[in-house]
Amino acid sequence: MQNDALTQLVAMSHNLGDPALDYVILGEGNTSARADADTFWVKASGTELRTIDKAGFVRVSFERVLTMLNDPVMDDEGVEQGLYAARVDSPPGEGVRPSVEGVRPSVEGVRPSVETVLHALCLNLEGINFVGHTHPTAVNALTCSVAFETAVSGRLFPDEIVICGPAPVVVPYTDPGVPLARLVRRLINQYIDEYYEVPKVILMQNHGLIVLGRTAQQVENITAMAVKAARVLLGTYAVGGPRFMTPQAVERIHTRPDEAYRRKLLGE
Ligand SMILES: [Zn+2]
Repeated sequence: MQNDALTQLVAMSHNLGDPALDYVILGEGNTSARADADTFWVKASGTELRTIDKAGFVRVSFERVLTMLNDPVMDDEGVEQGLYAARVDSPPGEGVRPSVEGVRPSVEGVRPSVETVLHALCLNLEGINFVGHTHPTAVNALTCSVAFETAVSGRLFPDEIVICGPAPVVVPYTDPGVPLARLVRRLINQYIDEYYEVPKVILMQNHGLIVLGRTAQQVENITAMAVKAARVLLGTYAVGGPRFMTPQAVERIHTRPDEAYRRKLLGE
């Protein structure tokens, strides 16, 4: 089962990294999957989604990663060491060497992505087993715009709601690492308080997209729809701007039994 999750994670990463889709280039983006109750797989730094294999993922402990979020004095170096220390199943001899005065600790082996903390938060939510973080050009045309918040403040068409949920979590620009992860945690909690469900899409200003799914297929579906919705939204600005669906219409689609059935048919 654990191995199965890793196999699916590799396939999902290749699909999200397909150059034709324009979700990521070079080493952009990262992916993760729950391995068991205590650990998850996350993309290592310096790997590419397009070509990654099983060895490109690191298995880390939820508890050890999430503990860093609660440490008020956590700094960049602390995060780097914490991420190495969060690895499980490390071959003997790998890991953090003792720090020498004035010298950054020397580290060996595969380093978990700096965005590992975000993945831990998302995978720790009810029903979430796979996470895909990408920087699609169409989505970042929105997240990097002056009208970002306004542009993503409504829904444009029913399939967007069916696949991506009633709304995204919208995250203002924040220092990457622990400050960003703390803000994302707070905004996810606000979202759950408002919608009584786990979000599917997180949009980060001047950065990119995070998609949360129960299955790898769901992460791919939601990413594809979020990118399509971004393209449609960008198109509306050429014809006077978006005409959002009313909150009542969004709510109606979101709760319709036949739409719930469609979600099931799509493998969610
Ligand atoms: Zn990123």
